[in-house]
Parts: sequence; C-alpha cells; structure tokens
Amino acid sequence: MTKKAPVVVVLGDNSVPVARQIINVLPGARLYGLANRTEYVDVTFTNFGETLRDLFAGGTPIIGICAAGILIRTLAPMLSDKRQEPPVLAVAEDGSAVVPLLGGLNGVNDLARCIAEALGVKPAITTTGDVRFGIVLENPPTGYCLANPEQAKSFMSDLLAGATVRINGTAPWLSNSGLPIDPNGDLTIHITERAITPLPNCLVYHPATVAIAILGTAECEDEAVVVKQILADAELATASVAGVFGMITASAHPEIHALAKAFGVPVRLFTATDIEGLLSENYTPAQAAALKAAGASGQLIYSPSPHLALAISPQPIDPSTIGQPRGRLAIIGTGPGGSQWMSPEVKEILLSATDLVGYKTYLDLVGNLGNGKRRHESDNREEEARAMMALDLAAEGRSVAVVSSGDPGIYAMAAAIFEVLDRYDQPEWSSIDIQVAPGISAMQAAAAAIGAPLGHDFCAISLSDILKPWSIIEQRITAAAQGDFVIAFYNPVSKERIWQLAQARDILLRWRSPHTPVVLARNLGRPGQTVKVITLDQLVPEAADMRTVILVGSTQTKTIQRGDGGVWVYTPRRYTENLPIERNCQI
Ligand code: SAH
Repeated sequence: MTKKAPVVVVLGDNSVPVARQIINVLPGARLYGLANRTEYVDVTFTNFGETLRDLFAGGTPIIGICAAGILIRTLAPMLSDKRQEPPVLAVAEDGSAVVPLLGGLNGVNDLARCIAEALGVKPAITTTGDVRFGIVLENPPTGYCLANPEQAKSFMSDLLAGATVRINGTAPWLSNSGLPIDPNGDLTIHITERAITPLPNCLVYHPATVAIAILGTAECEDEAVVVKQILADAELATASVAGVFGMITASAHPEIHALAKAFGVPVRLFTATDIEGLLSENYTPAQAAALKAAGASGQLIYSPSPHLALAISPQPIDPSTIGQPRGRLAIIGTGPGGSQWMSPEVKEILLSATDLVGYKTYLDLVGNLGNGKRRHESDNREEEARAMMALDLAAEGRSVAVVSSGDPGIYAMAAAIFEVLDRYDQPEWSSIDIQVAPGISAMQAAAAAIGAPLGHDFCAISLSDILKPWSIIEQRITAAAQGDFVIAFYNPVSKERIWQLAQARDILLRWRSPHTPVVLARNLGRPGQTVKVITLDQLVPEAADMRTVILVGSTQTKTIQRGDGGVWVYTPRRYTENLPIERNCQI
C-alpha cells in the first residue's frame, strides 16, 4: 500500500502538547481534534467513529491520543485483512505509553519506535518476531519485495520454535538482524531478482535492481506487455523493477506514466547533461538512461525495441536519488476561510507539495498544512512574476502548489498561470504536470450563509478597474441589470477605489427597485465573519471593503423573516415576471 502521512487524533486540548511532539517527528502528519473540545488543530471533526473509520478505510496511519480500548472498539467492525491495515497506535495523554495496535505488516512497530523516541519512553512492542529478531518478515524495507508473503507466518513460527535460516544472496537488513542465521539452516531466504518459484520452507525477496528506460513515442499499444516479455525472457521478476526512467523533455508523454503505473513504481527524469557521458560511449539514448539509473556497475538486458532499454544493478536502486521527478504545478483554491471549507483534494495536494507560492495572507490561511514547505510569498499584484516563478520551480521537478483563496479560477491565479504559459511558451514548461483544484468561491460561501440568493441565473462582476477599464464594467453592470441576473460583486471597494460601488448601485437603481435585497458578506469563514442584508438604496462604499463580497438580488429575490430576528434571502427557481424595463422610462 502507498504510504500516507499519519493523522494524530485528539479528543481534548490537554492532548495537544503530546500530539505536537509526535507531529514534529512525522513529516506531513496532521492533527485532528474533536469539535468544541479542541482549538488549535488542523482539522476538526464531530463524529469520532466515522472519522476514524474513514481514515482507516483510506489507509491513513492513525495515532490516537486516547485509551487503546476506544480505538479497538471503534475499528473492530473494519478488521478483515491484516495486509491492508494501516498502522494504528494508542498513545497515553501524558506521553508515557506508546502502544502499537494494528498494521503490523505496514510498519506500526517502526512508527511506535519513532514516536516513543520522540517522547523519551519505551514502545510497548508485543510482536514476538520483532522483539526476538528485530524484524518483521512481511514488511521488508524499501527496495525489497517479498514474493511469497503467505508463507511468512509459518516461516516465523518455525524460527520462533528454534529453526535456523540460511541466507542466499545479499541483503544487509537480513544479515544484520537478530535472525538465527546458519549456512546449513533448516529454512532458506533467497534474495534474488530471478523469477523463481519458492520452495516450501523458503522465503523469496526480490530486490529492486532493474531500471526501465523509455524514450520517444510508443511503437505498440501497451509497453508494459513488451517489458514483461523482456523480463520473462531474461527470467527476471517484475517485482524487481525499481523505476521507469526517461528524459525530462519527453516527460509529458503518457507512455512513460502508463508504464510506471503498470509496475507500481515512480517515474524519474534526466536532463540531456545527465546522460551525455554515456552517449559519448556510443550507447543509444535509451540505453544511456537505463545505465545511468542502474549506476556504475549496471548491465544492459537485451531489448528488441530501440526506444526501450532495461539495465540491472548489483544493488537495489533507490529512484528517489536518481534524476528528478516530473514537476507538478497544482493551482489550488483553499476556499474563503478555514480548513472546513477546503476540499480533501486540496488538503492532499498541500501535504505532498514541496513549494507553496502565493500571497502571504493566503499562505497563512493554509495553517499547519503548510508546515515544512518552502514558501514563496509575494505581493498580491505581482501575478505575472509569481506565475513564472511557479512554472520555473515546477520545471525543476518540484511539486508546487499555487495557492489562491476561494476558487483559483475565479479572479485568481489559474488564469494568470495559463496566460503566462500561453504568452511565453517556454519549452521546459511543457514537461510540467499541471492541475487545477477547485475551491468554494466567496459568492458561494456568502450565499450559503444567508439562504439561496444564487438560486436562479446569476453572474459575477469584479469592480476592480485595475485590469479592465471602467467603461467595460459599466456596460456589464447594465447588461446584467437588463438581463435580471443576481450579481456577485467581487473586489467592491479598496483604499484607492471608492466611487465605483456607488456608480454600480446607481446603474442598478435604473433597473431595480431600491428595496432589492443586497447581501454584504465580509471575512467569510475567517475570524470576524459578518453577513448583513440591506436594500439597494442603502448600498454605500463605506459598507464594504476588499474583504467583502456583495450579492445584489434580481427582481425576483425575496427575504423571509427568521425566528431569531434575522432574515433568509433567496431567489426562486421559477420566473413569474417579465424582464425589467428601465425604471426611469416608466415615469
Ligand atoms: N478567488 C477568490 C476571489 C478573489 S478576488 C474566490 O473565488 O473567492 C478577491 C475578492 O474576493 C475580495 O475583494 C472579496 O470581494 C472576495 N472575497 C474573497 N475572500 C473572501 C472572504 N473570505 N469573505 C468575503 N469576501 C471574500
């Protein structure tokens, strides 16, 4: 299973100091806290059971600062396949006990050791094999894959009953363990890239020693089939494939990613300079890339296809140290305020990003999710420079998140990035994996806070005349008024731009009643949120600022008195009146 960053779950603020000590040693870990009982957490939840079961089902390691029994009872209905279980641990509120509960095959004991060390205590490891030999046979370190996990349990039972083991091949983590190693052992562990059928009393580990390089476009539909045939011809195990390697200039080609997906391994990319030495030795570009990945003692494996090459290394290949990953640029919207309005996709992107680019206020809104990342703060107006910097960072292989508040496609960075991409068209940017992740826009949050004012046709107009002339804005307000759209005004007023809102109101008053409901929503989702309902004739520039979004009703928009003295605002979905005619003309 892919390794996810752990979640530390607390039920009260008392547990937060210990939780923070744990989070400090676990990169990317997040703090979940029970609503109304915890204040300084990354994510709040109301239903403990559901939250825990969702995390567990999604394979997220869980560290509960609570009684072991609570975790056991909550997760009991979910326990069916121990191979799929993420690590689950209970930690005492004062940090005095660290108890691994589940996920033995996915590293719970190692996690327990790491947490216990941070807290200065001894972990309560109870797995006999781990205690006796310091090893979990089913959970080899990165770079090795157990070919026959179904035999690991009886293998370990035999060892615990006194059997000895012969090691065939090289794997320091096994030879340096506490296993009862004996050249004439009753049991055998093979470490080999060969595709062998394990005998009884034998465990086989495949080291990740094979590099696949693919260059240019595919000659056939499915490259994975070709590679599997090459491996079969060479009697090599598919589990020994360490990574798929290619040139950065061709990194957008889907074949390379499809191949990596088929083998469940990462893609790593080279620049022309990385392989120029090998090219001068008369290797083809594909061979040069494969040999570069396999290291100085690497050897080529026969491949019939010129754009494909495979090489084998004497030691496991660690792809994370070779070449660079494909750069990623995610243009994300965090929603208007706190993390409760941030999509799970955006949270995942923030966790995996290496670099955050954005206006300081927006980066601050990301809170703890931004910990441990390079921050590239900028002024809110330097959009083009910010977009270029983000693209350049991603082209270097970094995983960049460009952070906007609300939705990134609504008066925010997404369009700015595509504009720069289009205008400057740098070849190195073509390798970047670009993704836009949506967020809740201010107008949606404002609408939700007051009822359903956007229930029928609506439009959004920015009142900022920095990037477009006022004459166009005027024209659009008039057209929107004539069309009887509900209007969301973004950027209504700033320190330097005051008169525009009053003019917008005057245009609207030509078409709409002075009693038209207007919603002023300020600091949505942030401290000091206010949502007020006034009428169109009361709309003055002093009522708004840059942190306000304004919704102006159509001729159909209505208000309802609420029991608590406030009002709901809604726009019915059925149209009962004709389009408005200019009010001045009616006189
Ligand atoms: N991408 C953002 C909009 C950025 S333009 C979005 O989709 O919401 C900036 C304008 O958005 C502000 O001047 C204000 O009108 C509105 N806005 C953004 N965040 C807001 C918030 N939390 N509360 C009220 N208005 C907000």
